[in-house]
Amino acid sequence: MKCPYCSAPSNHIRVIDTREVTDGIRRRRECDKCSQRFTTYERVASVNLLVVKRDGRREEFDKEKLVKSMRVACSKRAVSSASIEAAAQEIEAALYALNKSEVDGLRVGEMVMDKLQDIDDVAYVRFASVYRRFQDVDSITDEIQHLQARKRREQQLKNQIPLPMDSE
Ligand SMILES: [Zn+2]
Repeated sequence: MKCPYCSAPSNHIRVIDTREVTDGIRRRRECDKCSQRFTTYERVASVNLLVVKRDGRREEFDKEKLVKSMRVACSKRAVSSASIEAAAQEIEAALYALNKSEVDGLRVGEMVMDKLQDIDDVAYVRFASVYRRFQDVDSITDEIQHLQARKRREQQLKNQIPLPMDSE
């Protein structure tokens, strides 16, 4: 996306307000180069998105189903339903932003795992173990160790390198 006034690239444009409207999402944006404000609409409900399952069957994307499966993974964990709802909404928006009529179920699963990784370790492993159909306990243990190593690395990076304020 470019600024419609001065054509500044998207890293100059920030969202100052996001609102759900009946047929999509309305965002108020501001360009930090020319200070102009403008509004964009993302229509989310009008297009049918089909999810291609493992066996090749197509199923209409259903956000509620996504929320349900994330809830199962998060059961008895200290995770608010608001954060599950928000994650599902972000996944839905990302899927529609692909602008495709069909999306691979694997891709959806990976998006869910990405979100759960940030929300709750246990929920992530639960979901991943069902999703990736781990054959045995060893592979689940591997996954946990892999995840813990990743989090340690991220933490180290956060402590060492100041993050740029405006990165794309
Ligand atoms: Zn501008």
